[in-house]
Parts: sequence; structure tokens; C-alpha cells
Amino acid sequence: MSSIASALAAALESVRARIARAAERSGRTAESVTLVAVTKTVAAEAICEAYRLGLRHFGENRVQEREAKRAALDELTEAVWHMIGHLQRNKARRAIELFHRLDSLDSLRLAEKLEAVAAERGVRMPVLIEVRLAPEESKTGVEPEALPALAEEVLRLPHLELEGLLAVPPFHSDPEQVRPYFRRLRELRDRLASQLGVPLPRLSMGMSHDFEVAIEEGATEIRLGTALFGPRRP
Ligand SMILES: *Cc1c(COP(=O)(O)O)cnc(C)c1O
Repeated sequence: MSSIASALAAALESVRARIARAAERSGRTAESVTLVAVTKTVAAEAICEAYRLGLRHFGENRVQEREAKRAALDELTEAVWHMIGHLQRNKARRAIELFHRLDSLDSLRLAEKLEAVAAERGVRMPVLIEVRLAPEESKTGVEPEALPALAEEVLRLPHLELEGLLAVPPFHSDPEQVRPYFRRLRELRDRLASQLGVPLPRLSMGMSHDFEVAIEEGATEIRLGTALFGPRRP
């Protein structure tokens, strides 16, 4: 095995064990948590290796980067690509071609643009709404107060499928400090689902430094970059 492959295999084994223990603590199974491998700045060879090791969900935060690596990854036919970064409306068309899911929907104008492109192409795009839980620390996502109105509008768009929420809470070296944000996102999801009468099963929260706490608070998908691939080069 190459050194990339053995390092990745070891990291994945450790991450999987930690997911299983955190899921068990919250009375769930490891299978109820989807691991999304975040591959921004990661070379195509390492992504292929992750696929060989069994990973199927991948996240990128920029359309251009996904596009640049696309040809090298064409043979990963079962890969599910998640767009997890802020999407500009003028890239909506490319995003629909390059990604299977948009996990970072943050405005009605973007939703309407995506709806138009998806309708034209005859596809349905699963989406998560990104919520901004700490307005002073992050620029992306909708304010919790604006969430119900946006969700209601998105549910009216026939080619978008609203499946849940995503958040990127502020970074704290102590992951316990992040727990209230994860709990808040789950509560927002629960309330929204009952208000609108839709299931909203997906809750995307938790990154390399805090995913265990996120799982304990109900994450159904976690987004890990450095825990799998090591530190990103700046
Ligand atoms: C980069 C990124 C991640 C992964 O971050 P790590 O700390 O490396 O696990 C997760 N979510 C989003 C939205 C990201 O941009």
C-alpha cells in the first residue's frame, strides 16, 4: 500500500470507531450517521483511495475545484457529491451538473435559480438550508428567524427537495462549547418539520474537531476533512 493509502486507512478506521461510540452514546447505530469526506484541497488520487476504502459521500465547497478534479474522478460512479460551500447564483447551472446535492442553500433567489435550471434539465435536486447560528462569527446561512419563510418557499419549488438543515458553528478548541449550537440546530429542525408537516430527516453538523458532540446531539451526517486527509495546505 502507498503511504497515502495506509495513512488514510488508519485514519478512517479510527474515525469509524469514534462514530460508532458516539452513536452508541446517543442510542443510535453507526449506520444512522453518514460520513461525508470533505475533499477541498485534496488531490484526486487520495479521493480515489477514499472511494476504494468504501467512502461514497464527498463534499467540496467550490464549484471550480470540483470541476477541475472531475475528469480524474469520473470512474467513481457511485460517489455522491455534496456542495457544502456558499454558491453564487451565476454558478447554479454548473453546480447542478457537478453535484448531486446542495447542502448550503441560503437564499430564495438562489433557490429560484436552481429551480429553473433543474426544471430545464428535468432533474430534482435535494437541498439542505444552511442556518447561521452565530451571526457575529459567520457570514453564510440564513438567520434562524428567516428560516421558516425560506423553507416554506423552497417546499413550493417542484424540482428542489428540501431534506433538512446544515450549520457550521463557530470553532472552539473545546468541542463541548459547540454543543449548544448543535442542539439549537436540531431543535430548529424539529420545530420546522412539525410546523410545515414534512420530515426533514437530514441534519448535517459536525466537523473534524467536534463531530462526536454533533452525533450525540443528533447529526445524521458529519463533514470531515482533516480528520481523514490530514491538515490542509494553506
Ligand atoms: C472544510 C469544511 C469542512 C471540513 O472541515 P474539517 O475541519 O477539515 O473537518 C466541513 N464543512 C464545511 C462547510 C467545510 O467548508
